[in-house]
Amino acid sequence: MKNNRKKIVVSEFMDASVVEALRRHFDVHAQASLADAPDQLRAQLADAHALIVRNRTQVTAALLDGAPALSVIGRLGVGLDNIALDACRKRGVRVFPATGANAAAVAEYVIATTLMLLRGAYGASADVARGRWPRTALSNGREAAGSTMAVIGFGGIGRLVAQLARGIGMRVVGYDPQIAADADCWHETGARGMAFDDALRAADVVTLHVPLVESTHNLIGAAQLALLKPHAVLINTARGGVIDESALGEALVQGRLGGAALDVFADEPLKAGSPLEGVPNLILTPHIAGLTMQSNERVSTLVAERVTEALLADEHESTTTRSL
Ligand code: NAD
Repeated sequence: MKNNRKKIVVSEFMDASVVEALRRHFDVHAQASLADAPDQLRAQLADAHALIVRNRTQVTAALLDGAPALSVIGRLGVGLDNIALDACRKRGVRVFPATGANAAAVAEYVIATTLMLLRGAYGASADVARGRWPRTALSNGREAAGSTMAVIGFGGIGRLVAQLARGIGMRVVGYDPQIAADADCWHETGARGMAFDDALRAADVVTLHVPLVESTHNLIGAAQLALLKPHAVLINTARGGVIDESALGEALVQGRLGGAALDVFADEPLKAGSPLEGVPNLILTPHIAGLTMQSNERVSTLVAERVTEALLADEHESTTTRSL
Protein backbone atom coordinates (compact mmCIF):
# COMPACT_ATOMS: atom_id res chain seq x y z
CA MET A 1 0.00 0.00 0.00
CA LYS A 2 1.35 3.46 -0.90
CA ASN A 3 2.30 5.61 2.08
CA ASN A 4 0.77 9.07 1.64
CA ARG A 5 2.28 10.57 4.77
CA LYS A 6 4.62 13.48 4.17
CA LYS A 7 8.27 13.06 5.14
CA ILE A 8 10.23 15.36 7.47
CA VAL A 9 14.02 15.13 7.80
CA VAL A 10 15.55 16.49 11.03
CA SER A 11 19.31 16.93 10.55
CA GLU A 12 20.35 18.25 14.00
CA PHE A 13 19.30 17.88 17.64
CA MET A 14 15.57 18.40 18.28
CA ASP A 15 13.68 17.80 21.54
CA ALA A 16 12.82 14.06 21.56
CA SER A 17 9.24 14.44 22.80
CA VAL A 18 8.50 16.97 20.05
CA VAL A 19 9.94 14.61 17.40
CA GLU A 20 7.63 11.89 18.75
CA ALA A 21 4.66 14.27 18.48
CA LEU A 22 5.55 14.99 14.81
CA ARG A 23 5.53 11.22 14.13
CA ARG A 24 1.77 11.17 14.75
CA HIS A 25 1.22 13.00 11.45
CA PHE A 26 4.37 12.49 9.44
CA ASP A 27 7.18 10.08 8.58
CA VAL A 28 10.10 11.59 10.47
CA HIS A 29 13.76 10.77 9.85
CA ALA A 30 15.57 12.40 12.79
CA GLN A 31 19.35 11.93 12.81
CA ALA A 32 21.43 14.57 14.55
CA SER A 33 24.60 13.49 12.69
CA LEU A 34 23.14 14.31 9.25
CA ALA A 35 24.46 17.88 9.43
CA ASP A 36 27.97 16.40 9.15
CA ALA A 37 27.10 13.74 6.56
CA PRO A 38 26.20 15.63 3.37
CA ASP A 39 25.82 12.48 1.19
CA GLN A 40 23.38 10.88 3.64
CA LEU A 41 21.51 14.17 3.98
CA ARG A 42 21.16 14.45 0.18
CA ALA A 43 19.87 10.86 0.01
CA GLN A 44 17.28 11.49 2.75
CA LEU A 45 16.10 14.70 1.10
CA ALA A 46 15.39 13.05 -2.28
CA ASP A 47 11.78 12.36 -1.23
CA ALA A 48 11.38 14.76 1.75
CA HIS A 49 8.71 17.47 2.08
CA ALA A 50 10.27 19.32 5.03
CA LEU A 51 13.72 19.76 6.52
CA ILE A 52 14.39 20.89 10.12
CA VAL A 53 17.89 22.24 10.90
CA ARG A 54 19.87 24.18 13.51
CA ASN A 55 22.86 26.23 12.35
CA ARG A 56 25.31 23.53 11.25
CA THR A 57 23.40 22.18 8.26
CA GLN A 58 24.38 24.19 5.18
CA VAL A 59 21.22 24.51 3.11
CA THR A 60 22.65 25.40 -0.31
CA ALA A 61 21.00 25.82 -3.72
CA ALA A 62 22.62 22.50 -4.78
CA LEU A 63 21.09 20.71 -1.77
CA LEU A 64 17.65 22.12 -2.65
CA ASP A 65 18.08 20.97 -6.28
CA GLY A 66 18.24 17.39 -5.02
CA ALA A 67 15.03 17.80 -2.97
CA PRO A 68 12.24 18.32 -5.53
CA ALA A 69 9.36 17.74 -3.07
CA LEU A 70 10.75 20.02 -0.34
CA SER A 71 8.40 22.90 0.48
CA VAL A 72 9.26 23.83 4.09
CA ILE A 73 12.40 24.43 6.16
CA GLY A 74 12.19 24.81 9.94
CA ARG A 75 15.14 26.51 11.67
CA LEU A 76 15.65 25.56 15.33
CA GLY A 77 17.00 29.02 16.17
CA VAL A 78 17.04 32.51 14.72
CA GLY A 79 20.04 33.33 12.45
CA LEU A 80 19.44 32.28 8.85
CA ASP A 81 22.99 32.67 7.55
CA ASN A 82 23.31 28.87 6.92
CA ILE A 83 20.30 28.87 4.58
CA ALA A 84 20.43 30.07 0.95
CA LEU A 85 17.32 32.24 1.26
CA ASP A 86 17.28 33.44 -2.37
CA ALA A 87 17.43 29.85 -3.59
CA CYS A 88 14.54 28.98 -1.22
CA ARG A 89 12.46 31.89 -2.53
CA LYS A 90 13.07 30.89 -6.16
CA ARG A 91 11.91 27.33 -5.45
CA GLY A 92 8.92 28.39 -3.32
CA VAL A 93 10.42 26.81 -0.17
CA ARG A 94 9.13 28.58 2.98
CA VAL A 95 11.55 29.07 5.88
CA PHE A 96 10.34 29.21 9.50
CA PRO A 97 12.79 30.38 12.20
CA ALA A 98 12.02 30.05 15.93
CA THR A 99 11.82 33.81 16.39
CA GLY A 100 11.76 34.77 20.07
CA ALA A 101 11.88 31.23 21.46
CA ASN A 102 15.51 31.39 22.62
CA ALA A 103 15.71 35.13 23.33
CA ALA A 104 15.46 34.70 27.12
CA ALA A 105 18.35 32.22 27.16
CA VAL A 106 20.58 34.58 25.16
CA ALA A 107 19.60 37.60 27.27
CA GLU A 108 20.43 35.77 30.53
CA TYR A 109 23.81 34.75 29.07
CA VAL A 110 24.55 38.42 28.35
CA ILE A 111 23.66 39.48 31.89
CA ALA A 112 25.67 36.61 33.44
CA THR A 113 28.80 37.40 31.41
CA THR A 114 28.35 41.14 32.01
CA LEU A 115 28.46 40.54 35.76
CA MET A 116 31.37 38.09 35.54
CA LEU A 117 33.50 40.32 33.31
CA LEU A 118 32.83 43.57 35.16
CA ARG A 119 33.60 41.99 38.54
CA GLY A 120 36.52 39.90 37.29
CA ALA A 121 36.57 37.88 40.52
CA TYR A 122 35.18 34.47 39.61
CA GLY A 123 38.24 32.81 38.10
CA ALA A 124 40.13 32.25 41.33
CA SER A 125 38.47 29.05 42.65
CA ALA A 126 41.53 26.83 42.11
CA ASP A 127 43.82 29.38 43.83
CA VAL A 128 41.48 29.85 46.80
CA ALA A 129 41.04 26.06 47.23
CA ARG A 130 44.85 25.70 47.24
CA GLY A 131 45.11 28.16 50.13
CA ARG A 132 46.03 31.26 48.14
CA TRP A 133 44.20 34.45 48.99
CA PRO A 134 44.24 36.91 46.02
CA ARG A 135 42.00 39.35 47.87
CA THR A 136 43.79 42.55 46.95
CA ALA A 137 44.02 41.61 43.28
CA LEU A 138 40.29 40.85 43.16
CA SER A 139 39.03 43.85 45.14
CA ASN A 140 38.71 46.28 42.25
CA GLY A 141 35.84 44.78 40.26
CA ARG A 142 33.05 46.95 38.94
CA GLU A 143 29.32 46.89 39.71
CA ALA A 144 26.84 46.68 36.86
CA ALA A 145 24.48 49.15 38.57
CA GLY A 146 25.32 52.61 37.27
CA SER A 147 27.47 51.22 34.42
CA THR A 148 26.44 51.81 30.81
CA MET A 149 25.59 49.01 28.42
CA ALA A 150 25.58 49.62 24.65
CA VAL A 151 23.22 47.27 22.84
CA ILE A 152 24.21 47.07 19.16
CA GLY A 153 21.22 45.75 17.18
CA PHE A 154 17.95 46.56 18.92
CA GLY A 155 15.72 43.73 17.68
CA GLY A 156 14.02 41.02 19.73
CA ILE A 157 17.04 39.89 21.73
CA GLY A 158 18.63 43.35 22.03
CA ARG A 159 15.43 44.75 23.60
CA LEU A 160 15.13 41.91 26.09
CA VAL A 161 18.79 42.38 27.10
CA ALA A 162 18.08 46.11 27.57
CA GLN A 163 15.14 45.35 29.88
CA LEU A 164 17.13 42.92 32.02
CA ALA A 165 20.07 45.33 32.19
CA ARG A 166 17.76 48.15 33.31
CA GLY A 167 16.45 45.75 35.98
CA ILE A 168 19.92 45.56 37.57
CA GLY A 169 20.35 49.32 37.47
CA MET A 170 22.37 49.73 34.29
CA ARG A 171 22.07 52.68 31.92
CA VAL A 172 21.35 51.40 28.42
CA VAL A 173 22.17 53.03 25.11
CA GLY A 174 21.41 51.38 21.78
CA TYR A 175 22.30 51.57 18.11
CA ASP A 176 20.18 50.19 15.28
CA PRO A 177 20.10 51.84 11.85
CA GLN A 178 16.63 50.41 11.11
CA ILE A 179 14.96 51.99 14.15
CA ALA A 180 13.91 55.66 14.17
CA ALA A 181 15.16 57.89 16.98
CA ASP A 182 11.56 58.43 18.19
CA ALA A 183 10.46 54.76 17.96
CA ASP A 184 8.48 53.45 20.96
CA CYS A 185 10.96 50.66 21.73
CA TRP A 186 13.47 53.14 23.15
CA HIS A 187 11.17 54.46 25.92
CA GLU A 188 9.53 51.07 26.43
CA THR A 189 12.89 49.56 27.35
CA GLY A 190 14.33 52.65 29.02
CA ALA A 191 17.17 52.78 26.49
CA ARG A 192 18.53 55.78 24.57
CA GLY A 193 19.18 55.49 20.84
CA MET A 194 22.58 56.81 19.73
CA ALA A 195 24.96 56.89 16.77
CA PHE A 196 27.20 53.81 16.58
CA ASP A 197 30.51 55.47 17.53
CA ASP A 198 28.89 57.46 20.36
CA ALA A 199 27.35 54.29 21.82
CA LEU A 200 30.77 52.57 21.75
CA ARG A 201 32.45 55.56 23.42
CA ALA A 202 29.80 55.71 26.18
CA ALA A 203 29.88 52.01 27.04
CA ASP A 204 31.27 50.02 29.93
CA VAL A 205 29.70 46.94 28.30
CA VAL A 206 29.04 46.42 24.58
CA THR A 207 26.74 43.58 23.54
CA LEU A 208 26.09 42.61 19.90
CA HIS A 209 22.69 41.51 18.60
CA VAL A 210 22.89 42.01 14.83
CA PRO A 211 22.44 39.42 12.08
CA LEU A 212 25.52 38.43 10.06
CA VAL A 213 25.05 40.20 6.73
CA GLU A 214 27.46 42.08 4.48
CA SER A 215 27.08 45.36 6.41
CA THR A 216 27.76 43.72 9.79
CA HIS A 217 30.85 41.74 8.72
CA ASN A 218 33.73 42.92 10.98
CA LEU A 219 31.40 45.56 12.45
CA ILE A 220 33.77 45.57 15.44
CA GLY A 221 37.34 45.84 14.13
CA ALA A 222 40.50 47.60 15.33
CA ALA A 223 39.02 51.09 14.71
CA GLN A 224 35.89 50.39 16.79
CA LEU A 225 37.86 48.66 19.58
CA ALA A 226 40.00 51.81 19.78
CA LEU A 227 36.87 53.84 20.64
CA LEU A 228 36.09 51.71 23.71
CA LYS A 229 37.13 52.64 27.24
CA PRO A 230 40.14 50.55 28.33
CA HIS A 231 38.08 48.83 31.04
CA ALA A 232 35.08 48.17 28.75
CA VAL A 233 33.96 44.59 28.09
CA LEU A 234 32.54 43.16 24.87
CA ILE A 235 30.00 40.35 24.52
CA ASN A 236 29.19 38.60 21.25
CA THR A 237 26.28 36.17 21.09
CA ALA A 238 25.26 37.29 17.57
CA ARG A 239 27.48 35.63 14.99
CA GLY A 240 31.18 35.09 14.41
CA GLY A 241 32.37 37.35 11.61
CA VAL A 242 30.75 40.37 13.28
CA ILE A 243 33.96 40.83 15.30
CA ASP A 244 37.48 40.82 13.86
CA GLU A 245 38.90 38.13 16.16
CA SER A 246 42.57 39.03 15.50
CA ALA A 247 41.97 42.68 16.42
CA LEU A 248 40.08 41.62 19.56
CA GLY A 249 42.83 39.18 20.62
CA GLU A 250 45.43 41.89 20.19
CA ALA A 251 43.44 44.48 22.18
CA LEU A 252 43.04 42.02 25.09
CA VAL A 253 46.69 40.95 25.08
CA GLN A 254 47.78 44.59 25.11
CA GLY A 255 45.33 45.44 27.94
CA ARG A 256 43.43 47.95 25.77
CA LEU A 257 40.13 46.28 26.69
CA GLY A 258 38.78 44.95 30.00
CA GLY A 259 37.54 41.58 28.76
CA ALA A 260 35.26 39.77 26.35
CA ALA A 261 32.78 36.91 26.21
CA LEU A 262 32.34 35.16 22.89
CA ASP A 263 29.75 32.48 22.17
CA VAL A 264 30.10 32.58 18.37
CA PHE A 265 33.14 32.47 16.09
CA ALA A 266 34.12 32.97 12.46
CA ASP A 267 35.04 29.25 12.37
CA GLU A 268 33.13 26.88 14.63
CA PRO A 269 34.83 24.92 16.18
CA LEU A 270 37.91 27.17 16.33
CA LYS A 271 40.94 26.04 14.31
CA ALA A 272 44.34 25.38 15.95
CA GLY A 273 46.31 28.61 16.12
CA SER A 274 43.21 30.78 16.48
CA PRO A 275 44.04 34.40 17.44
CA LEU A 276 41.99 33.81 20.61
CA GLU A 277 44.22 31.06 21.99
CA GLY A 278 45.89 32.01 25.30
CA VAL A 279 44.29 35.47 25.36
CA PRO A 280 43.55 36.84 28.89
CA ASN A 281 40.20 38.03 30.31
CA LEU A 282 38.26 36.04 27.79
CA ILE A 283 35.22 33.80 28.36
CA LEU A 284 34.60 31.40 25.46
CA THR A 285 31.55 29.15 25.07
CA PRO A 286 30.66 26.81 22.19
CA HIS A 287 27.61 28.58 20.68
CA ILE A 288 25.28 27.76 23.57
CA ALA A 289 23.91 31.18 24.55
CA GLY A 290 20.49 30.28 23.17
CA LEU A 291 20.50 26.69 24.43
CA THR A 292 18.86 25.78 27.72
CA MET A 293 16.49 22.98 28.75
CA GLN A 294 13.58 25.39 28.51
CA SER A 295 14.57 27.11 25.27
CA ASN A 296 15.25 23.76 23.52
CA GLU A 297 11.71 22.72 24.28
CA ARG A 298 10.22 26.10 23.26
CA VAL A 299 12.26 26.26 20.04
CA SER A 300 11.43 22.66 19.03
CA THR A 301 7.73 23.10 19.83
CA LEU A 302 7.43 26.37 17.89
CA VAL A 303 9.23 25.03 14.81
CA ALA A 304 7.22 21.76 14.88
CA GLU A 305 3.99 23.79 14.99
CA ARG A 306 5.03 25.99 12.05
CA VAL A 307 6.20 23.05 9.93
CA THR A 308 3.06 21.03 10.75
CA GLU A 309 0.76 23.93 9.84
CA ALA A 310 2.59 24.51 6.55
CA LEU A 311 2.60 20.83 5.52
CA LEU A 312 -1.06 20.35 6.47
CA ALA A 313 -1.96 23.50 4.50
CA ASP A 314 -0.07 22.07 1.47
CA GLU A 315 -2.01 18.80 1.83
CA HIS A 316 -5.30 20.67 2.08
CA GLU A 317 -4.46 22.74 -1.01
CA SER A 318 -3.52 19.70 -3.09
CA THR A 319 -6.71 17.84 -2.00
CA THR A 320 -8.83 20.89 -2.91
CA THR A 321 -7.06 21.24 -6.28
CA ARG A 322 -7.54 17.50 -7.00
CA SER A 323 -11.26 17.68 -6.20
CA LEU A 324 -11.86 20.72 -8.49
P1 NAD B 1 16.28 40.57 15.17
O1 NAD B 1 16.16 40.41 13.68
O2 NAD B 1 15.06 40.68 16.00
O3 NAD B 1 17.20 41.85 15.47
C1 NAD B 1 18.36 42.17 14.77
C2 NAD B 1 18.46 43.68 14.74
O4 NAD B 1 19.73 44.04 14.21
C3 NAD B 1 17.40 44.36 13.87
O5 NAD B 1 16.62 45.28 14.64
C4 NAD B 1 18.21 45.07 12.79
O6 NAD B 1 17.65 46.31 12.42
C5 NAD B 1 19.53 45.26 13.51
N1 NAD B 1 20.65 45.52 12.62
C6 NAD B 1 20.87 45.09 11.35
N2 NAD B 1 22.03 45.59 10.88
C7 NAD B 1 22.56 46.34 11.88
C8 NAD B 1 23.75 47.11 12.01
N3 NAD B 1 24.63 47.22 11.01
N4 NAD B 1 23.98 47.74 13.20
C9 NAD B 1 23.10 47.65 14.21
N5 NAD B 1 21.95 46.97 14.13
C10 NAD B 1 21.68 46.30 12.99
O7 NAD B 1 17.20 39.33 15.63
P2 NAD B 1 17.33 38.75 17.12
O8 NAD B 1 16.30 37.71 17.33
O9 NAD B 1 17.43 39.87 18.08
O10 NAD B 1 18.74 38.01 17.00
C11 NAD B 1 19.94 38.71 16.76
C12 NAD B 1 21.03 37.72 16.34
O11 NAD B 1 21.37 36.90 17.46
C13 NAD B 1 20.53 36.72 15.30
O12 NAD B 1 20.70 37.19 13.99
C14 NAD B 1 21.39 35.50 15.55
O13 NAD B 1 22.47 35.51 14.64
C15 NAD B 1 21.89 35.67 16.98
N6 NAD B 1 21.48 34.59 17.90
C16 NAD B 1 22.45 33.84 18.50
C17 NAD B 1 22.11 32.84 19.41
C18 NAD B 1 23.16 32.06 20.13
O14 NAD B 1 22.87 30.98 20.64
N7 NAD B 1 24.37 32.55 20.24
C19 NAD B 1 20.75 32.58 19.65
C20 NAD B 1 19.78 33.37 19.03
C21 NAD B 1 20.16 34.37 18.14
